[in-house]
Amino acid sequence: MLKLHKINKSFGDLKVLIDIDLEVRKGEIISIIGPSGSGKSTLLRCISGLEKIDSGNINIDGSIGMVFQQFNLFPHYSVVENIYKPLTVINKMDRKEAKEIALNLLAKVKLEDKADSYPAKLSGGQKQRVAIARALAMSPKIMLFDEPTSALDPELTLEVLQTIKDLSKEDMTMVIVTHEMNFAREVSNRTIFMDEGRIVEDGPAEEVFLRPKNNRTKAFLKRIN
Ligand code: ATP
Ligand code: MG
Repeated sequence: MLKLHKINKSFGDLKVLIDIDLEVRKGEIISIIGPSGSGKSTLLRCISGLEKIDSGNINIDGSIGMVFQQFNLFPHYSVVENIYKPLTVINKMDRKEAKEIALNLLAKVKLEDKADSYPAKLSGGQKQRVAIARALAMSPKIMLFDEPTSALDPELTLEVLQTIKDLSKEDMTMVIVTHEMNFAREVSNRTIFMDEGRIVEDGPAEEVFLRPKNNRTKAFLKRIN
């Protein structure tokens, strides 16, 4: 599904990713945790092609959808337009067909009633669910999430986490960078801990959270609990 081999990435003198090896299998739900500045976002950005790697290689089987902390919706498009316009422009899909797909996806994220609203009228959690629906519209094989709830208030966080949880039941392959440790533990079946540009621990979520092997993972989990 996705295979990274010896990825390296620097910004000037700063080595941000060092010899990253990672294989993501179909249907896996991987959470990536780790301290600020450890390279989590850069890793997702390299996978999605937003950032160029210095060395190593990335093999991807299918297209990728990405959801960011900031929702980046088009303010002058309605909710349903935000989802179907990219399909008509990028995929040259017929407008009627694209709109139908968009409405189905809105139902999936439980926002059918907001189809004709504009982003400014939505809560943060609703905006993020539109952003998730928009990413899903391109039929990605893998969804990457970079702290999808960290711009949200706690009560709005829950509805977005629920949307992601629903996707996990549909066999979507997902890689989720998150500070929500309970969510990571509950939803992911595999957890990766990154520190200073390296993957220092990679194992079943329960193992990593309950019996971390690496001292830096132990210290990190102790600090945040
Ligand atoms: P956080 O948990 O705070 O989001 P992170 O693990 O996602 O952190 P990254 O955003 O990947 O960390 O950043 C890793 C390092 O790379 C940081 O030291 C950051 O300052 C640096 N960095 C990231 N993007 C750039 C850039 N475009 N130019 C220069 N340095 C960058
Ligand atoms: Mg980040």
